[in-house]
Amino acid sequence: MRQRNYLSPTLRDVPADAEIKSHQLMLRAGLIRQTASGIYSYLPLGKKVLRKVEEVIRDEMDATGGQEVLMPAIQPAELWEESGRLGDYGPELMRLKDRHNRDFVLGATHEEVITTLVRDDVQSYKKLPMNLYQIQTKYRDERRPRFGVLRSREFIMKDAYSFDTSKEGLDESYEKMYDAYQNIFSRCNLNFRAVEADSGAIGGTDTHEFMVLSEIGEDTIAYSNESDFAANIEIAPVRVSYTKSEEAFGELQLVNTPNVKTIDEVTSFLGVNSSNTIKSLLYILDEQPVLVLVRGDHEVNEIKVGNVLGKASIELATPEQTATILGCETGYIGPINVSDSVKVIADHAVEFIVNGVCGANEAGKHYKNVNPSRDFQVSCYEDLRLIQEGDPSPDGKGTIQFAMGIEVGHVFKLGTKYSEALGAKYLDENGKSQTMIMGCYGIGVSRTVAAIVEQHHDENGIVWPASVAPFDIHLVTINVKDEEQKQLGEELYQTLKQERYEVLFDDRPERAGVKFKDSDLIGLPIRIGVGKKASESIVEVKVRKTGDMIEVHVSELVETLN
Ligand code: ATP
Ligand code: MG
Ligand code: MG
Ligand code: MG
Repeated sequence: MRQRNYLSPTLRDVPADAEIKSHQLMLRAGLIRQTASGIYSYLPLGKKVLRKVEEVIRDEMDATGGQEVLMPAIQPAELWEESGRLGDYGPELMRLKDRHNRDFVLGATHEEVITTLVRDDVQSYKKLPMNLYQIQTKYRDERRPRFGVLRSREFIMKDAYSFDTSKEGLDESYEKMYDAYQNIFSRCNLNFRAVEADSGAIGGTDTHEFMVLSEIGEDTIAYSNESDFAANIEIAPVRVSYTKSEEAFGELQLVNTPNVKTIDEVTSFLGVNSSNTIKSLLYILDEQPVLVLVRGDHEVNEIKVGNVLGKASIELATPEQTATILGCETGYIGPINVSDSVKVIADHAVEFIVNGVCGANEAGKHYKNVNPSRDFQVSCYEDLRLIQEGDPSPDGKGTIQFAMGIEVGHVFKLGTKYSEALGAKYLDENGKSQTMIMGCYGIGVSRTVAAIVEQHHDENGIVWPASVAPFDIHLVTINVKDEEQKQLGEELYQTLKQERYEVLFDDRPERAGVKFKDSDLIGLPIRIGVGKKASESIVEVKVRKTGDMIEVHVSELVETLN
């Protein structure tokens, strides 16, 4: 590719509103331009890297037997109503109407569409298991789009969905995807860690996030210094048991529950996504008081605690603030036995979303005058204390350390949540109708590109790993006005292309300093400089990563590159 008329505008200065290195460098190297807040155009270099990452992903997905499909970005809102997510997803879901006033959404994810596709066209166990994936544009109206394409409102995702006939089958599909993800992120030269994650209200069980280790990551990972234990801090104090203490319970008064909100009501009021409520609530930190969320598990008396201490300077809401936000009275828990309801504990300003913890109670009633530490006992680390560095690891091996991570991938055992809601059934060996068992697996393709830049740069610019570099070689004719340089540059351009190298050829009539600065900024693995020694058929080969530079006679160039 000739740079003379290539759209690769470089910037010398750091763009004012770009806070992190990858965002700055992607703008400065001419990979992306912002079209609107959280909405980006990819210029040719950026698009090339996207394609490189996509090819790695495709390769690994295909190797597991994944079948590539392409689903629409525009989805009928009824589908989301059927799955029950239209309300759940909250304002992150972009909604629109067509000319007939019919409701649509812009796909934030594709469980609904894929489940109906498979429902309509797969009838027999003989076709299963099946794994379908796509690489496609997603839309999420993020509350705080930031860091360039790391958290944008339109982004590219690889999403895969598995359909199995048994739990064991799902385990196998999940493991295959997990392994494929390890391969993908390794091939992208990322320093990452797979961590246990929060399954939230989505209704799944096992779930792991793939975290690229980075100071600017928005997730905190708690890991053991002596074992494989690693978890998103959201679930880090893995299990807490919460029990009613018999003595004090008698003092409580059971009264009718006014104004208790459902999860849907609360999340839509707060403008957060209930499947990810803990984190979403944390994101509104800056503007509103924080609620610590404790989410119910399906096993009675076992709840997971959301850890909010990832970042400093978090203030908890007072009971009054919490009550105001939720529209409840303070000083009670309730209603306890209504699944998916919200409870408020005054003292701790803790919000509970439960599925039957705390034992039996009467529907539509709550306890008044609750004193949580007196009436309910929480046993994990002391009280509701959140996991900290230096705590013993939950697996008993070693102590907890913290690291920050960028979530580039997420694998999830869904179970039958969507197949049940949308009726994806098949006939088993005995002709009996059964519900398909699903998993879903996402990778943020555009976010991965940014994460690569975040981990691979120096003070002069990007340092692309060869596997995802937009071109293999930057061929630079240092002075195009010099006839010998110009001619040798042209010759080498042809030779290298014939050798199947992808070459960016700087044939611009620019000063040497500008060309070298741009070359370092763009960061291709190898630079070949054609300069003063062109008359002796000698060029300069520089390795971007190490800065090592050697002079090579053109007759030995191809051999040297190999
Ligand atoms: P996050 O916690 O960062 O908001 P998520 O958990 O909401 O991400 P998933 O629903 O798990 O995201 O989607 C799968 C993948 O899509 C994520 O692992 C991430 O790599 C990517 N992704 C999600 N939201 C964005 C975004 N706003 N911009 C870019 N990539 C995103
Ligand atoms: Mg999100
Ligand atoms: Mg997440
Ligand atoms: Mg996720």
